[in-house]
Amino acid sequence: MDHAARRARLRRRLDEAGVDALLVTRLVNVRYLTGFTGSAGRLLVTADAADDVVVTDGRYREQIAAEVTGIERHESRGTEWLAGRLGARRRLGVESHALSWDAARGLVQALDGVEVVPAPHYVEALRAVKDEAELNAIRRACAATDAAVTTVLDELRPGASERAVARRLDDELRARADGPAFETIVASGPSTARPHHRPGDRLLAAGDPVLMDLGAAVDGYASDLTRTVVLAAPGHAVHPGWRRLYDAVLGAQRAGLAAAVAGATAGAVDERFVHPTGHGLGLEVHEEPILREGATDRLAARTTITVEPGVYVPGLGGVRIEDTVVVGPPGSEPEVLTLTPTDLRAVT
Ligand code: ZN
Ligand code: ZN
Repeated sequence: MDHAARRARLRRRLDEAGVDALLVTRLVNVRYLTGFTGSAGRLLVTADAADDVVVTDGRYREQIAAEVTGIERHESRGTEWLAGRLGARRRLGVESHALSWDAARGLVQALDGVEVVPAPHYVEALRAVKDEAELNAIRRACAATDAAVTTVLDELRPGASERAVARRLDDELRARADGPAFETIVASGPSTARPHHRPGDRLLAAGDPVLMDLGAAVDGYASDLTRTVVLAAPGHAVHPGWRRLYDAVLGAQRAGLAAAVAGATAGAVDERFVHPTGHGLGLEVHEEPILREGATDRLAARTTITVEPGVYVPGLGGVRIEDTVVVGPPGSEPEVLTLTPTDLRAVT
């Protein structure tokens, strides 16, 4: 789908939002709707495509000319262009979930006679459902992630530091994709009990659980995968309590995958663990929908999400198993895009 088609989808929702135009200020949303990847830009989408405009400043003149077609471009650092563009339109929606108080006040002051109203998450809701080009980028990111973790699992030995393992994963992600999509997590032994542990100097020891959470970026799109394995060695048995945790999480993960079908509520996939069971991903590693208890938004086909239950027991360790999946058409199972096996793997 091209960017003009995405803007057309948004245009059809302006009525529902109760606005005549939407000022898109979140850069990731500007990118989604125009293709512009620069670090400063705004987009006005109105009921009439001929009045749409994307606004940057002179620093991005060449970049925007190369990246953006099919919409008028304008250069400005201010808001003086906006009133003229709006013309007779009197209700301007803004991305209130991502606009500073100062910026919002500035708009209200600059637009005499225009009602500035919150219209949050409209672009994010569109972004949840992926088109084919987006799915292909995410598939490639998942394949790169599988290859990276498979390669590094084969190298895993006692004595390596968490940081060194994370560096190896990042090297592999750079070799196979545009690089890591987020800061790679490697936790070992007791540090696996911290869901967002940052890799440190701890050395992997025989018998340790080792948790790796990584993702690749491809054309701006992310993948996300977690595997927890055991660094086995003769005479170092896996703690039976920890193994029970693993089996419980794996069961929950499989149940979550089975529940991730079109029409299910985002909450139905949740298994009531410490953190939400999963999240949408695409241009952002964490985007809509968030799969948490009580979430009532319904999963649509072609939504890419993660399913990542985890348990974390201080002193014993933690387990998280995470896959990236795409919700299938109504009545079918999700397509699991990350294919590294999930049954408990003992690395020796
Ligand atoms: Zn992850
Ligand atoms: Zn995740």
